[in-house]
Amino acid sequence: MTRHVVTLIPGDGIGVETSAAMQRVVDASGADIEWEVAPAGAECIESEGTPLPESTLESIRKNGVAIKGPIATPVAGGFRSVNVALRKALDLYNCLRPVRSLPGAGGRYEDVDLVIVRENSEDLYAGIEFEQGSEGAGSIIDLCESLGAGSIRRDSGISIKPISVAGSRRIVRAAFEYALAQGRRKVTAVHKANIMKHSDGLFLTVAREVAAEYEGRIAFDERIVDAFCMNLVIEPGQFDVVVFPNLYGDIASDLAAGLVGGLGIAPGANIGDDCAVFEAVHGSAPDIAGQDKANPTAEILSAAMMLDHLGEQGAASRIREAVRRVYADGSCLTGDIRWATGSKEPAASCTAFTDNLIEVMRTL
Ligand code: NAD
Repeated sequence: MTRHVVTLIPGDGIGVETSAAMQRVVDASGADIEWEVAPAGAECIESEGTPLPESTLESIRKNGVAIKGPIATPVAGGFRSVNVALRKALDLYNCLRPVRSLPGAGGRYEDVDLVIVRENSEDLYAGIEFEQGSEGAGSIIDLCESLGAGSIRRDSGISIKPISVAGSRRIVRAAFEYALAQGRRKVTAVHKANIMKHSDGLFLTVAREVAAEYEGRIAFDERIVDAFCMNLVIEPGQFDVVVFPNLYGDIASDLAAGLVGGLGIAPGANIGDDCAVFEAVHGSAPDIAGQDKANPTAEILSAAMMLDHLGEQGAASRIREAVRRVYADGSCLTGDIRWATGSKEPAASCTAFTDNLIEVMRTL
């Protein structure tokens, strides 16, 4: 059996609980994983002087693979998102989020099977922002006026939305290559090119060019993001692989997760050319943190994606099959799923859910 060294970032809030649950499930799956625990987030600012220590980045670069719990970001102030910084530092440009119906999870549909491919490094997440009243904001306002680009109110805060040819080409190509490798039939590009002609418009132009390279092998279509949201809610079965610029992909991920039972079961991965960091779609859920109420399924399914990536398909399949059986049985599910299904049955704790899942996995 091959031993894999994996960097583990437990994260904040429920991340501490879901990461511990995930670790127990992976350890029981038959894969041989050595965990290298590395810190990130608010808790390490005092000890390390930064929410994202260089030693954590080094560990991921060395191992090539990491799994992380969610990390909280202060709203409208404080430090910048560690999640965004991590994706940037390691150039994890491809955010892959499979969205599948899980019978028993309370989804609105039984047959959703789509994959969100979200560009992870550009767009409004580039982190180029100017506080209102700052010299930078003033200079940009002056520049726009001097170029005749239109006037911006003087008391505006400004966020910049860069979308490049190279960045768009590599994410659209990643979506098509994924579709080919997984035997999928179609890629849909989502945009707002009718309004943002030089950012989303560029993304769409590049998507069309890349799509032409795959003509006859993978079908292509395109949707404006607002219409896409309505189409997704009414008939999710029409979508297969869907590629987005960063912000729309982020929003659509939660929307799509809501269709199949919620954030508690939505897994994901951030993939670059050299490293991959696996993580659930959800955040640190401060409203339920520390109460043993969190649903660890999303992080456990993210670990199954990680095991596939490591070539441990047997262990990954065992985990997915155990998850499927636990949800189909329905007697030991966490509160978010009880709520989504409208069930009055008592909710299982994160610990009880994990114990039961491991027991089921041992019978496979
Ligand atoms: P959230 O995903 O943490 O929570 C949204 C809602 O879903 C809450 O009601 C929460 O209780 C519920 N929920 C989420 N995951 C759950 C789970 N596994 N089991 C049961 N219920 C679950 O989103 P938020 O409240 O907007 O964000 C909280 C913090 O998380 C913020 O600081 C945000 O920046 C951060 N965040 C981090 C990541 C990441 O690390 N990748 C992603 C999203 C948000």
